[in-house]
Amino acid sequence: RQEKPGFEAGLDPAPMWEAPYYRGSGKLADKIALVTGGDSGIGRAVAVLFAREGADVAFSHLSEEEIDARVTQQAIEQEGRRCLVLQGDVSDRDTCQQHAEMVAQMFGRIDILVNNAAFQVHRTDFADLSPAQFELTLRTNLFGYFYMAQAVLPFMPHGGAIVNTGSVTGLRGSSELVDYSMTKGGIHAFTRALSGNLLDRGIRVNAVAPGPVWTPLNPSDRPAEEVARFGAKSRMGRPAQPEELAPAYVFLASAQCSSYISGEILPVIGGY
Ligand code: NAD
Repeated sequence: RQEKPGFEAGLDPAPMWEAPYYRGSGKLADKIALVTGGDSGIGRAVAVLFAREGADVAFSHLSEEEIDARVTQQAIEQEGRRCLVLQGDVSDRDTCQQHAEMVAQMFGRIDILVNNAAFQVHRTDFADLSPAQFELTLRTNLFGYFYMAQAVLPFMPHGGAIVNTGSVTGLRGSSELVDYSMTKGGIHAFTRALSGNLLDRGIRVNAVAPGPVWTPLNPSDRPAEEVARFGAKSRMGRPAQPEELAPAYVFLASAQCSSYISGEILPVIGGY
């Protein structure tokens, strides 16, 4: 089990999109996508794979430092697609509206929104969970998704797709992440409810629910045994690499692949 790619590597693997393992085939040809939280982890892998499938990609990030964002931007541009980098806090409604307007200004419209930016802090004791942390988790993970979905609507006149990042914690709950699990369950319900609401606009709404994925969301100073324990929750005995999640987003974003699918939660959890 430990020889599977990415297990021991979990720590510092070469990004899979640098290897020729995934060839795009135009599933998102000439689409315009906006991905939140694209300077890292799953969001970066999704943004780059979307470009490989033919989309122009805007992505947002929280950090005021641009180093990580530049890595994503370069990878998108290497695919020959246009890229727009947006900085700001998605829990702020005005920021979401500005971001959507900037994408529409540059590309003319928006076809795909990936709501992906999120916040979590591990807390073993529920009693210690401070109101400030609770509020920050809710604001980023719930308000952010809600505001961003509303903000893109005026720029999706021809229909499109929204893909939300949920989580296995929203399906099963995590005792260390009570507030976070609560928001992820909320995102799944939001996905199902919004799907019915937006179908007559031609917008499909689905979610990907990742299991354990090795990204900066998990503290990088974690000892190897802890990585192993984290990954062992999956039957594959290892955490996923972010690039293993991204094809699920392509599938749900592309009308070629999923034109008759809306309101679904797709678990990508390695047999968790
Ligand atoms: P990550 O830390 O690599 O990326 C998080 C991204 O969110 C960053 O790009 C950051 O800039 C952005 N972000 C955070 N707060 C923000 C805010 N207020 N405004 C704007 N951007 C903000 O983490 P990741 O693991 O790639 O997480 C991506 C998504 O996957 C999240 O929704 C997370 O809940 C979900 N998820 C992750 C795992 C996992 O094990 N890593 C498991 C299930 C679900």
